[in-house]
Amino acid sequence: MQLPEGVSVPDSPYAVQLERGFRFLRFTPMLESEFRPDYTERNLPRMRAGFLVAVGLYLIFLLIRALTETGPAAIFGFVFRSLIIVTMLATVAVSYYAPLRRYLPACVFVSYMIFAMGVTAIEVVAQRFGIDRHYEGLIFITIHAYVFSSLVFRQAFLAAQFIFATYLLGGWLGGLVGRDWFYELFFIGLLNLLGAVALYGLELVERDNFLRRRLLREWASRDGMTGLYNRTAFLAHFDRILKQAGRDRRQLGLLLLDLDYFKPYNDQYGHLEGDATLRRVAQVLQNEFRRPLDLFARYGGEEFVGLWFDVEPGALERLAHGIVERVADLDIPHERSPHGRVTASVGAISFIPSGNESLLGLFKLADEALYTAKGSGRNIAVAKILNALPGVSVPGLT
Ligand code: GH3
Ligand code: MG
Ligand code: MG
Repeated sequence: MQLPEGVSVPDSPYAVQLERGFRFLRFTPMLESEFRPDYTERNLPRMRAGFLVAVGLYLIFLLIRALTETGPAAIFGFVFRSLIIVTMLATVAVSYYAPLRRYLPACVFVSYMIFAMGVTAIEVVAQRFGIDRHYEGLIFITIHAYVFSSLVFRQAFLAAQFIFATYLLGGWLGGLVGRDWFYELFFIGLLNLLGAVALYGLELVERDNFLRRRLLREWASRDGMTGLYNRTAFLAHFDRILKQAGRDRRQLGLLLLDLDYFKPYNDQYGHLEGDATLRRVAQVLQNEFRRPLDLFARYGGEEFVGLWFDVEPGALERLAHGIVERVADLDIPHERSPHGRVTASVGAISFIPSGNESLLGLFKLADEALYTAKGSGRNIAVAKILNALPGVSVPGLT
């Protein structure tokens, strides 16, 4: 899959990983921990179907054997085959129970181990009692591990080697050594190899798709010109943070910024120069919102919006003035401005959410502060602390 033309988020970890490649089927630890649950989740329907079909087929096999075999070997076979079916059913049950889902790969692995040991033990006993042996289950389960397990390549490969090694070792110690046993090992080994090649290829595609999906998602939340997050992404983040700050009783700071006399700037220096200036402003101001839950975004045009999580009471004014200074300090000449350089006006509010505020109401309040700043000559910040005390609700917010 090719990304649509123009899709590029160079600083994205997904883009970096795509660039770097993943021949050994491993991402950086951060991306790997994002990929694994996603992979398990996407493969769940196939894994469940694969296990339920396997249980069904094996149940039929168990019944046929139970009806046609007699003696101690029959009892032994019945017990082991029942154990195999129970572990497979338990694995399916775990897949349905979300809190245990992260143990699913381990459960799948264990169910293959029990299958391999069970079938090997049944084979050894059958050989002792001189009844016919059926190793085909091991071929079946080797393919199963590669196709239906929902395990990543490394895990599935390990499971398949375990199945092979169990039959090799168990057969050797249990007295299966002979021409038939060699043939059996040959076929299990052959399918093991085929399965490994197929799953390796599939996982390469799966990982590539994962990175491209995430990259597209990230690209859709960015503003193409400045690389900042866009309005949609900001509103989604703001909505989440409002709830969190309300729960934790934290003070939020919301800031609106509008560049001063920017229309005359474009008229004087041209739109391309205007764009370059917007990018410089964006780059500098981004650094003022560096903590993990802070966010600075392009709201539209030459307007930006910022959110500070957990602002200390009284810090808002200092922060907002700092922003205005950062823009002026860029010292970008602007002949048509009374300030002689590019400046910005800022309206900022801080508050502890009560949980009833509307985003629109909050933006309106910040916009009023911005309007006051514009009216007071521009190149300044107007900051309003709405409720420094926890639990005080703000009139007009809803
Ligand atoms: P004020 O000080 O009152 O804010 O005056 P202003 O001229 O900046 O007025 P306003 O905020 O309404 O101006 C918006 C202008 O910003 C209009 C447009 O020329 C410019 N602008 C908006 N988006 C872009 C953009 O993406 N690139 C460039 N170069 N200019 C833009
Ligand atoms: Mg504007
Ligand atoms: Mg403006």
